[in-house]
Amino acid sequence: MTKTPSSFVLASGNAGKIRELQALLPDFSLRPQTDFAVPEIAETGGTFVENAILKARNAARYSQLPAIADDSGLVVHALNDAPGIYSARYAGPDANDAQNISKLLNKLDGVAMPERRAYFFCVLVFMRHENDPCPFIAQGRWDGAILERPEGEFGFGYDPVFGVASHHCSAAQLSLEVKNSLSHRGKALALLKHALFENRVV
Ligand code: IMP
Repeated sequence: MTKTPSSFVLASGNAGKIRELQALLPDFSLRPQTDFAVPEIAETGGTFVENAILKARNAARYSQLPAIADDSGLVVHALNDAPGIYSARYAGPDANDAQNISKLLNKLDGVAMPERRAYFFCVLVFMRHENDPCPFIAQGRWDGAILERPEGEFGFGYDPVFGVASHHCSAAQLSLEVKNSLSHRGKALALLKHALFENRVV
């Protein structure tokens, strides 16, 4: 059996995301792609999977290390699955979380439950090298509904308007630990972690 390498590049320069993933994968050293001067790549794919593969391949190419990339977003039934892959830039290329939430609530004005149902989706891709023909793909989904107004202070992105029925609150009212146990990202990461520990992907 081959030994699992201990160092991977994470196709992100987002310090928060690196901290979150590093905490969940303590047996591996995750290095930000900024350590290797990896240029940003345009997310030109039409799906979360395509964009995650583009990012992982780009990071593996410039770092010469196995790469992990993620892509995630919010999918709303009443909006024909928008904002989807455009979640981070829903209200414009430089939009912040408050602007994205405001656009979302405006679009859903007058829409009642159950049409406000939505889910977060996360794809994590692991590529052993830039020409890896068999990337490992882990996907996670978290179902909920869009609230009428923001609630809570924790989390990021659309968390304040994402209603979690099981806990009668928004995602921004959950501790990080509880959120990770329920979330799209937590579920995808559990699958990736399992595969890495079983030495199935390296
Ligand atoms: P990414 O960094 O390209 O994957 O962009 C994901 C975007 O989707 C973020 O900027 C958020 O707007 C949204 N998003 C993804 N996951 C979450 C989450 O756990 N909570 C809130 N918003 C999220």
